[in-house]
Amino acid sequence: MATFVELSTKAKMPILGLGTWKSPPNKVKEAVKVAIDAGYRHIDCAYVYQNENEVGEAIQEKIQEKVVKREDLFIVSKAGKDLFPKDDKGNNLISKETFLDAWEVMEELVDEGLVKTLGVSNFNHFQIEKILNKPGLKYKPVTNQVECHPYLTQEKLIQYCHSKGITVTAYSPLGSPDRPWAKPEDPSLLEDPKIKEIAARHKKSSAQVLIRFHIQRNVVVIPKSVTPERILENFQVFDFKLSDEEMATLLSFNRNWRIGVLADQANLPDYPFNADY
Ligand code: NDP
Repeated sequence: MATFVELSTKAKMPILGLGTWKSPPNKVKEAVKVAIDAGYRHIDCAYVYQNENEVGEAIQEKIQEKVVKREDLFIVSKAGKDLFPKDDKGNNLISKETFLDAWEVMEELVDEGLVKTLGVSNFNHFQIEKILNKPGLKYKPVTNQVECHPYLTQEKLIQYCHSKGITVTAYSPLGSPDRPWAKPEDPSLLEDPKIKEIAARHKKSSAQVLIRFHIQRNVVVIPKSVTPERILENFQVFDFKLSDEEMATLLSFNRNWRIGVLADQANLPDYPFNADY
């Protein structure tokens, strides 16, 4: 089984990466170092996670120790609303028009050699279509990073993206149990008895099954952990295979349950989750 997906640019993106949202700055450095030692070559970051300096320090140390070369690492970052122009009150103007302008700003980063490839996140298929149809498009998105797990299987969106040569990256693959807005009555993927049953059959953990589920769909997956044993555990997913029947069972758990509802954007005209996919 390949440990990479090939992007439309022909670059290789490691199919398993380390998530870093909610990883405290004083823990993320060790987490990234443990991950690189374990074989992770893809780290998922964002400016808004407020820990990119520490992630960078860990990467620098591992390069200096000659554990890894920079060109073997796939580092993802995410620009936020600062890419958008501001109105006279200082609020960022996020609309259909300015979002295509923001894409052009990102394309300049590629031309300047600061960024290798561009992706999008939380885009529905209409929004991807808008980028693909943008007059003068220079670089198309190589991936769409969206929430995905057995309770939100995203079949239509994945099929659409793959048909356009765009990979999909699955975030919150374990159900994001440390999300700040978790409620005790929310469903839990890690505690789901049917997922535990599949895991026991393979002598694996539920987390490993939840990660493997994406790999077998050719979907990139980025579980987050700051716990060294879990970082190692989450990488031990290339030595077993879920059967077609088990994959179908996991897909049948879909209930369109979304963790990342982007509540602060719900009133924006381009709120992505009103569309079917
Ligand atoms: P995950 O589904 O990856 O879950 C992370 C939680 O699971 C943490 O509490 C972690 O604990 C725990 N955990 C990790 N491994 C195990 C294990 N083997 N057994 C039991 N528990 C485990 O949630 P995230 O929401 O963090 O999603 C992953 C990444 O996706 C993010 O970190 C971020 O990089 C990205 N993301 C992107 C978004 C976007 O809008 N583009 C939105 C949300 C996430 P601990 O760390 O204490 O070990």
